[in-house]
Amino acid sequence: MSGEKTGAEVFIKDKELAWIPARLLDMTADKATVSVPSYGDELDIEMGGRGASKWADATVNLKDYAEFGKQLPLQNNKILDDMVDLPYLHEAAILFNVKARLKDALPYTRTGDIVIAVNPYTWLTHLYAEDQQLLYANRLVWEKHDQDPRKLVPPHVYEVSALCYRGLAVDGRNQSILVSGESGAGKTETVKIAMNHMASLQRGPVKATGEAYSSPVVKRIVDSNPILEAFGNAKTRRNDNSSRFGKYINLQFARQAPQPGEVDICNLAGSKCNVYLLEKTRIVGHDEVEGAYHIFYQILNSPDDIKAGLNPCLKGSKCEDYKYVGKLNFVRKIDGMSDAENFEHLTNSLGLVGVSGESYQTMFSAIVSVLILGNMSFQDKGGDDEKSEVKSTDVCKQASDLLGIPMEVLELSFTERTMKTRNEEYKVPLKHPIAKEGCDSFAKEIYARSFLWLVREINSATSAEENYEGGGQSDFGIIGLLDIFGFESFPVNGFEQLCINYCNEKLQQKFTKDIFQSVQEEYKYEGIDLDDIKFDDNSDVLDLIEGRGGLLAMLNEECVRPSGNDGAFVSKAVSGNKKSKCLLADMRMGPLEFGIHHYAGKVMYNAGGFVGRNTDSLPVDLKKCALASTNDILANHLENDAMTKTESKAAAAPPPASGKGAPRRGKSNLVSDTVWTKFKTQLNSLMAGLALTSSRYIRCLKPNKFKKALKMQHLTTIEQLRCAGVVAAVTISRSAFPNKLDHVGCLERFRMMREAGAKEIEDPVEALNDLLDPVLKGREEDGKKAYVPGKTKVYFRAGALEFLENERAKH
Ligand code: ATP
Ligand code: MG
Repeated sequence: MSGEKTGAEVFIKDKELAWIPARLLDMTADKATVSVPSYGDELDIEMGGRGASKWADATVNLKDYAEFGKQLPLQNNKILDDMVDLPYLHEAAILFNVKARLKDALPYTRTGDIVIAVNPYTWLTHLYAEDQQLLYANRLVWEKHDQDPRKLVPPHVYEVSALCYRGLAVDGRNQSILVSGESGAGKTETVKIAMNHMASLQRGPVKATGEAYSSPVVKRIVDSNPILEAFGNAKTRRNDNSSRFGKYINLQFARQAPQPGEVDICNLAGSKCNVYLLEKTRIVGHDEVEGAYHIFYQILNSPDDIKAGLNPCLKGSKCEDYKYVGKLNFVRKIDGMSDAENFEHLTNSLGLVGVSGESYQTMFSAIVSVLILGNMSFQDKGGDDEKSEVKSTDVCKQASDLLGIPMEVLELSFTERTMKTRNEEYKVPLKHPIAKEGCDSFAKEIYARSFLWLVREINSATSAEENYEGGGQSDFGIIGLLDIFGFESFPVNGFEQLCINYCNEKLQQKFTKDIFQSVQEEYKYEGIDLDDIKFDDNSDVLDLIEGRGGLLAMLNEECVRPSGNDGAFVSKAVSGNKKSKCLLADMRMGPLEFGIHHYAGKVMYNAGGFVGRNTDSLPVDLKKCALASTNDILANHLENDAMTKTESKAAAAPPPASGKGAPRRGKSNLVSDTVWTKFKTQLNSLMAGLALTSSRYIRCLKPNKFKKALKMQHLTTIEQLRCAGVVAAVTISRSAFPNKLDHVGCLERFRMMREAGAKEIEDPVEALNDLLDPVLKGREEDGKKAYVPGKTKVYFRAGALEFLENERAKH
């Protein structure tokens, strides 16, 4: 903080508020007195009404603020569109810029090419009106400008969609938009906003028409969103409409032959979607304050005749009749529509993608059977035998009817397990809790398969290859939209968090590389040497997770080892990766605990259940049972066609110690294709696909935990800015030159430092040298000048701009 002048506007650090703007009143070598303007209402939301009185005139110990002493900011009151233009770029300045914008109902801000989207928690309808769609289309796609066209419009999702469209239509390169953020930050809404914009762009440079989508396939693409949301979204603590799966949609565009002298136009011709890691545990139960997948409520809250049409057993039924759904503790309205209205809407949308008549009935039989399976109960048969039997025979009959599987087959598949050795095959009876567990796994499998089946149906109704009528093209331009779970860190983190955070590490790696590249491009454009850009990449974390002998390999090993278990996984992973700086392990941790230093922070994991979760495969008997079903979705659409692999693996496993020993979670019948391995394969192919596109990033932020409109809490926002890599992006772009000013701005700001009567110099670079050289002389480091003039901007090394400001204040 040294050298700062009394009266300067600064940010001070606070435990509860992260940063507070203040004015410096007095300063000695180790103490500073600051005054903090009352923030009243704005701080209330953060401090539970205590206000900022404790800071009114406070003395701060400079030692505590050493961290930002060097980059002590002058508070910048100006609200900026692009944070890269903040003269002092650091966390506090970023935070207060997005906060001031949000207060003014400006949820979007740029950081270079990245768009930061703060969830406003209120529909700012004017931002998404047709005139806005057209404005961005015209400015950014169709018109030609000498300067960066983004300077002509405020930051927006539409800027990203328009620039992607331009990249595809004009530059002929495939594009992608990577949307990230924590649950409730607005990823799914943002993707929908971008998609709607792109669907409207194909009209070309025309005035507003108000017309609906021009072709049936575009309507289908837009309408397929609510289908996936009905089956894959649920109410959680953090979001009433939380997507419980990751999604990558490829929008396919067909190029229209350009007319002479006209801009190329691309038509949205189709779409194809991939889904990742549907949350399966939610199918069979959920927390009291959370919900099951929306579809169950939509069905059960529909009128009786609709329910009876799906299956007679639903007549007169309510949510609380089904254990997987349970009592409804909250009023359900999604997008202002009731469940029954949503179901009607869903049925229409399903019709549009060809799920009607027989396939509609088949799918809902599968979905309803999941509800029924939740009500199955088992009891021990008694006697020496550890065998159990179905207690709820009526329920079993309903499930048998719905799935078209004979009742005896169903019952035996739940209560016995086939074991195989090299020479023989035998059945082992199962106790009732294990039978129930098997029944739950069966329900999960049915739901997950129905979901994947639906995705395939949607894809075949929307893919350009099958639906575009524009003249037998097969080579389509692509704009990919990624809506995937953000980084997670809870008090206790399990297998799902590890998969999610692994995915985020992968994306972060790409993000860092891309940012680095764009900084390279900027410096190249400005004609500046690059040798001192440094950045941390996260390859050591990825190595720990997916490398040889890493966590994934160790866990997979435990999953095929007959007595493999969670504890052995942790101890092997820890002893095998002692050298890794990213793995946290120490004697004080429990036997199932380990931690990882992720790019976004430290996360502690508890490995309880890892082996089971990673294996998550149906026992052979239930797989056979599924194959025997007359329900097509079950019988024909195996999630992994691993039946034969399973059996050969099981055959290779040694027999259990006692012929009658009850097997644990079906381990000896498992496939080597674990959940994580499959996810890794999917991710690798996603990354390979993305590598063929130019990527743009939208980082979504959830500004407060109360879903309150236009309010921002500091700590949670700062945390997300870090996780989103915004601070890192800024650090990369500022690592060599933390500050920059454009030529004119710099000349104007510091002109008073020139000698009176000095003659005007026209060439801006010469003028800058003439102005800055005398002042910054002697501040060279390693022989490098403290500033470097580029083609349009002047770049300052660390400390140089602060020094200039202080000199300026003396004049
Ligand atoms: P999850 O990871 O749980 O799926 P998400 O990031 O996809 O979360 P969304 O479902 O897109 O979050 O958004 C959560 C809620 O925030 C929405 O249901 C909506 O109420 C509100 N919201 C999001 N974006 C906007 C927006 N641009 N304008 C107004 N409200 C919004
Ligand atoms: Mg979502």
